[in-house]
Amino acid sequence: MDNKITLTKAKQMLDSKECSAKELVQTFIDCATKKKNLNCFITETFDNALNAAQEADQRIANGNALPLDGLPIANKDLYCTKDVCTTAGSKILKNFVPTYESTVSGNLKKAGAISLGKLNMDEFAMGSANLNSAYGPVINPWRSNTEPDKDFVPGGSSGGSAAAVAAGVCLATTASDTGGSIRQPAAFCGITGIKPTYGLCSRWGMVAFASSLDQAGPMAHTISDCALMLQHMAGYDDKDATSLNVKIPDYFANLTQAGKGIRVGLPKEYIEGLNEEVMALLQKGIAWLKDAGAEIVEISLATTKHALPTYYIIAPAEASSNLARYDGVRYGARVDGASLDELYYNTRHEGFGKEVRRRIMIGTYVLSAGYYDAYYTRAQKVKKLISNDFDQAFTKVDVILTPTTPSAAFGLNDPNDDPVAMYLNDIYTVTVNLAELPGISIPAGFSSNGMPLGLQLIGPKLSEQMLFNVGLTLENAAAFPHFKAV
Ligand code: GLN
Repeated sequence: MDNKITLTKAKQMLDSKECSAKELVQTFIDCATKKKNLNCFITETFDNALNAAQEADQRIANGNALPLDGLPIANKDLYCTKDVCTTAGSKILKNFVPTYESTVSGNLKKAGAISLGKLNMDEFAMGSANLNSAYGPVINPWRSNTEPDKDFVPGGSSGGSAAAVAAGVCLATTASDTGGSIRQPAAFCGITGIKPTYGLCSRWGMVAFASSLDQAGPMAHTISDCALMLQHMAGYDDKDATSLNVKIPDYFANLTQAGKGIRVGLPKEYIEGLNEEVMALLQKGIAWLKDAGAEIVEISLATTKHALPTYYIIAPAEASSNLARYDGVRYGARVDGASLDELYYNTRHEGFGKEVRRRIMIGTYVLSAGYYDAYYTRAQKVKKLISNDFDQAFTKVDVILTPTTPSAAFGLNDPNDDPVAMYLNDIYTVTVNLAELPGISIPAGFSSNGMPLGLQLIGPKLSEQMLFNVGLTLENAAAFPHFKAV
């Protein structure tokens, strides 16, 4: 059977008994096997998946199918999965097999979704190209029309999650977004990804990077697929102190194209310095929303220029604290030494990659006595100002339109030894995490060499439904070829 289908379509096919869960899961396993060279998976769980498919078929036959019964998905290797190795892309967790399941992956499992395995990612979710994984890079399944033999990066840190959907290896994936890690790889791989409001999905059982910014979210071909996934990922969890106790709307049932009467903000700070092809795409986005009856309003988010420096203080600070637990005593790998200090040193030196070590050093520095107020406290204050800026903007507009990334995917082997250049990939996405807002990336067009580009919509807290609905207007107008890389 054909794997050029959306999650929504596959669900219809299962509901109408056009195919069985077993056939569906087998089809995607076959594709995953064929596309092993993309390196999407760190751990495959195909046998478990086939067993689960059999159980799903049984439930379907008995008339008590679960809402996502039989649908093949896969989890970013940041979600702790019971009895299945969870590495977070790091050598230090190479043999870590959790005895518990994260709330989000558990919710999907309870809804009947079937995981094909654990997806590759930048180590501890630090990166924008999936080049920081201890398990090797992931290849973007798209080919450019100027250099068809060249491999491109899928973006990061959820590079495996994005490439797996784009390549048709599974129907949808879980991912996480601390500064852009759902939206940026979604844009690079021509798929849809939403970073929900901070606290909408539980962080329990997700390997922590920067706890005040981390948020789980889905990636899939289309808006309706993401709506279906988020529906079953989100929800209050008393095991996460920052979990929001709100009723989750039926995003999927309430999906309807929106545009008429919607005020769309265009922040001038996001337009300055845009390259020509990204600017052209943004203009198209504006025209599509205008055609749907939206009003375009120029706005200013003056604190935008402080977002990246603020992020690169807060995120490393929280990471240095979160990653202190990997000491070679309680978790994962251990490299012995003559003393306890030496054991710590050896374990952490061997276990962590270069970027993770860089972040731990920056984070430890900005939290150290004498510098804490100058850096960390100050960054927290600027975070608040960024959030105030958005609050102000949302008194004038309903939603904000921006590009997702400043450019399309770059070559896997292009020179990339400048960490700051890499950090600039997230210039349009980090603000959203700092302000705890939801943001969605929708595949909307192409660069001049034929690689995908995305548009981002940002809304006020808990406006996921509106983002889906306005996003649907963009999706329909863009008519993006969702299965071109499958
Ligand atoms: N690229 C950003 C970083 O390296 C964001 C990562 C993320 O969202 N997990 O920190």
